[in-house]
Amino acid sequence: MGVLVQKFGGTSVATAERIYAAARRAIKAQQAGNQVVVVVSARGDTTDDLIAMAREICDHPPPREMDMLLATGEQISIALLAMAIHSLGGTAVSFTGAQVGIVTDSTHTKARIKSISTTRMREALATGSIVIVAGFQGIDEAGNITTLGRGGSDTTAVALAAVLKHESGDRHDVGCEIYTDVDGVYTTDPRLVPEAQKMEFISYDEMLELASAGAAVMHSRSIEFAKKYDVPVMVRSAFSDVEGTWIVREQEWMRGEPACGVAIVKDEARLLLDGVPDQPGVSHRVFSALAERNIVVDMIAQGLGSQGKAAIGFTVPKAELREALSVLHPLADSLGATVSAAEDVSKVSLVGAGMRTHTGVAERMFAALAGEKINMQMITTGDIKISVLVDRQDGMRALRAVHRAFGLHRERLKLPHGASREEVFRAPETSMNLENGRDLYRRLSSMEDILISDIRLVCDYGQITVLRLADVPGYCNRIFQGVAQAGINVDMIVQNLGAGGRADLSFSVPQHDLATARDCTERVIREIDPAARVVADSDIAVLFVFGVGMRTHTGVARKMFGALAERQINIRMINTSEVCFSVVVEQTRGQEALECLRRTFELTTNGNGPSSLH
Ligand code: ADP
Ligand code: ASP
Ligand code: MG
Repeated sequence: MGVLVQKFGGTSVATAERIYAAARRAIKAQQAGNQVVVVVSARGDTTDDLIAMAREICDHPPPREMDMLLATGEQISIALLAMAIHSLGGTAVSFTGAQVGIVTDSTHTKARIKSISTTRMREALATGSIVIVAGFQGIDEAGNITTLGRGGSDTTAVALAAVLKHESGDRHDVGCEIYTDVDGVYTTDPRLVPEAQKMEFISYDEMLELASAGAAVMHSRSIEFAKKYDVPVMVRSAFSDVEGTWIVREQEWMRGEPACGVAIVKDEARLLLDGVPDQPGVSHRVFSALAERNIVVDMIAQGLGSQGKAAIGFTVPKAELREALSVLHPLADSLGATVSAAEDVSKVSLVGAGMRTHTGVAERMFAALAGEKINMQMITTGDIKISVLVDRQDGMRALRAVHRAFGLHRERLKLPHGASREEVFRAPETSMNLENGRDLYRRLSSMEDILISDIRLVCDYGQITVLRLADVPGYCNRIFQGVAQAGINVDMIVQNLGAGGRADLSFSVPQHDLATARDCTERVIREIDPAARVVADSDIAVLFVFGVGMRTHTGVARKMFGALAERQINIRMINTSEVCFSVVVEQTRGQEALECLRRTFELTTNGNGPSSLH
């Protein structure tokens, strides 16, 4: 008999009628022969109302008490749903997170799941009951109620499916359905861009990047569980029987298009530390100070320094700006650097597994923005993602322009020609060796621990840096157009807006194209901004650290920068995403950096030598 985990979001249990609809779905799934576990969120705006209630009492409620309060929202839903199932003649038993054995760490309001006991759930399922679990909450080892962060019910659902699947040694079929107020995952938020298209399939990595780039349809941590424990998830409508979107392992055919979706985070804040010493250990000091306060640093743009000084630019959620500044001011003083912040910025990210193979993706994105005369304040790239930071007032226009430029308003390819849906579920993962991943996951002491799957060293890239480029819309685009016309494939891109309205732009290209790339860039620079300077560097090594949910684990950057700082290895360029961190170091230190990182992340598999990335 299979186990089906069904999750109903806030809107899907907002009224008595909808609770009955959810109850009917659960009963139907049970009658179809499944053991059913239902996870529910708080009804409608309950969580927001609870937060407002707390704020009426004080500005900064103690996090422990906040969790005590917030957890009540989900407790109401589980009881009501159990009652509805009983009135329909079914049997159901409701549990809070604590009762069902969801143990978390003690980081109140953003706790991570450590372990889940299935004993109580299994006992109840064995008696023929439908099990109803409160989403978004758990209990720490000291017995305090915790919550997982906004949107965390998705994570509860996928984590339950993951544990049920792996405890049965994969003997049982375990499914996971996320019922919400849209009928699937779209190329972008259909409420913002009505011409967005629904996808039939999306890969774990793509969904992870989209979710962490702002697509609130899934809590990004839930996708970490899905990928690590290989649980296919379907996102579908609570209000119809339409087939939704499957989030599954990545497969070759998904790379047919360069991009699968675009997302926006409207409220970001940009921080710039200018004039920091260009020395080993500086990034480590900055990012570990922020990680200690659990501030998730988002885009990081650290380019090549000049005259012994470097600028580190990064973004944080706008809501965390005040706290970030309180960490950064004393730090900047001690480094002899300056801090500046820009508040009204939005981040637009393009995501697609196709970026692993398609070329010219960045250029196409920048051309779309240049066409709209939108200035890019910062650019970062990841393995399958390109993010740009723009003025808040340009955010929506940027989102629409990029969406259109990649033809995302046109109907998607549903399945590869001749393939059946069953084949899609059976196909192996192509982005990460999941067998390897499964072995690794057994070593995790805690379910949500970071999983680093591979570290690679690539020595056949060179780096072009344009120093002090005037901050004018369209300039970056001109440069990348020039490079693309020469048929050169650009890999990492980092652009950081420095002081005085001038930006530093760095990108990597295959080493054998370095001289041509430099010539093209110089030619463009002479035309647009002769005051800027172009530097080409062939002595670089790029280290790629692959994993799952790397950005949301503030500790990864800290650990990585810390290990390199300890060896006095200077980081010259950084790029981060959920699935890959890359750093550029001096070529002579590449091998040493690789070994040091492998040791730090306890990776002993695979060879140690330089490899090619694709
Ligand atoms: P729930 O309460 O069910 O968890 P959420 O509000 O958290 O629902 O998530 C569903 C919402 O996510 C949709 O109403 C939609 O506006 C938004 N959304 C954002 N990006 C996307 C996307 N790419 N595809 C579908 N929905 C999206
Ligand atoms: N009720 C919580 C929230 O509103 C968790 C969730 O809905 O997933 O954030
Ligand atoms: Mg949600």
